[in-house]
Amino acid sequence: MSDRSIEKPRISVPPQEATVSEDGASKASPRRPRKTPARPAQPKAARKPSGARNRQAELKQRQAVIATALEMSRRALSPGRSGNVSCRWPGGMLITPSGMAYDVLEPADIVFVADDGSVAPNSRKPSSEWQFHLSAYHARPDRHAIVHTHSTYATVLACAHKRIPAFHYMVAIAGGADIPLVPYATFGTTKLAEHVAAGLAERDACLMANHGQIAIGETLASALELASEVEVLAEQYCKVLTLGKPKLLSAREMKIVLERFKGYGQHAQKDA
Ligand SMILES: [Zn+2]
Repeated sequence: MSDRSIEKPRISVPPQEATVSEDGASKASPRRPRKTPARPAQPKAARKPSGARNRQAELKQRQAVIATALEMSRRALSPGRSGNVSCRWPGGMLITPSGMAYDVLEPADIVFVADDGSVAPNSRKPSSEWQFHLSAYHARPDRHAIVHTHSTYATVLACAHKRIPAFHYMVAIAGGADIPLVPYATFGTTKLAEHVAAGLAERDACLMANHGQIAIGETLASALELASEVEVLAEQYCKVLTLGKPKLLSAREMKIVLERFKGYGQHAQKDA
């Protein structure tokens, strides 16, 4: 598999679709009456066994993780080699490896980490931040993809220990009246994983003190979109702060906004 073929963003493949296809593999082989006996060898060869279909679905998902990581870089959300991407996969998750540039990644470099944190012996080393990815999936069974970045403005706020309050109604995109900040803990630790799980319990994104931001979504595409939105909001908020004390929207107004977000769906929100 050449990396050229995966440079085209293919981030619209939701992990849950892959799950369905894996779970439904046996259903995809209905017993149809054979109208013609035909040539015995060919019908069997034409039909892929379910194991091969599962491998194909997993390959597609690994490619989608790489495409998302590349797109994250293209959007300048991950200075240096910071940031990592994962998606849920039956029995665990698929995550970018530790310390590799995204533009050289091949599907086999993406690491499967099981729900218990174990990794197959012949795999790459997973991102050092795999623990908080796993804890986020445990905390949010309704979300299936994660984008974590050290994007500049989100990180500036996180280093100043500032959350993003309701200075603009679009903070509701993360599912609440603010984008919270979780306390600092050393990267790669269980403590940080606990903080992230708590921060994402009622939001789809949060800032991580002295570190960066994390966004979750139903799909890789929606997690990446949210990470981009958080960075835009962080930049706007940083700039507003230079003009003095921002005028925040009231809790009552944000309640109305959140109701409207529910009613209009994600893509209509900006025009709401
Ligand atoms: Zn990080």
